[in-house]
Amino acid sequence: MSAIFDSISEPISRRVTTGLTKIGLVLRSRAWKGAGSAGITPTQGNALGMLRDASDGMKLSAVAKMLGISAPTASDAMNALVAKGLVIKKAGPDRRSINLILSPEGETAADRTREWPDFLADAVETLDADEQTTLLRALVKVIRSLQAAGDVPVQRMCISCRYFHPYVHEHGVNPHHCAFVDAAFGDRHLRLDCAEHLEAAPEVQAATWQAFTSRTESAT
Ligand code: SF4
Repeated sequence: MSAIFDSISEPISRRVTTGLTKIGLVLRSRAWKGAGSAGITPTQGNALGMLRDASDGMKLSAVAKMLGISAPTASDAMNALVAKGLVIKKAGPDRRSINLILSPEGETAADRTREWPDFLADAVETLDADEQTTLLRALVKVIRSLQAAGDVPVQRMCISCRYFHPYVHEHGVNPHHCAFVDAAFGDRHLRLDCAEHLEAAPEVQAATWQAFTSRTESAT
């Protein structure tokens, strides 16, 4: 009987993409709504959120890279935030570069931008623990593929981190190891944006990816 559905269904990759596109549209609409009430643009809101995690501030080039936007677009966004008093420009440690850091008002605004996707977190929480872990692992793989294709900048994910060692422990629930905290962890702990992330060399990332994807089960 399933053969009938095989013949009348679009490939599952297409339907998953349709679902992701629908979620993307809602996210964009919520971001515009949240940004509008805060008097900023979604790009400015995303920049605030990123700077909130960077206690030492960030250079303009790093902001552009992490947001996947051009340097002039990042410069416009940051100048607008400086003019609003949400971001401060400070001399970097070498005294030649400029670091962008949040003002106290910027920290408050950044905390508010983090509430924009709360509606989606509520929806994800309707999944059981195994489903959430499987979804997280799948997202890591999709984002990594987009990264490899050059469609998104390198993200601060475990999979590209120098400290990540997949499947080095026998423990079924926590088979991976983070050398930064020197502890075992499982798929449910995989990070998509870790402040301690240190990008591994390309050949190390390739070997890590091979080891991570050689096992298909998600450890919950
Ligand atoms: S430092 Fe962060 S990104 Fe790197 S392996 Fe540990 S938890 Fe993952």
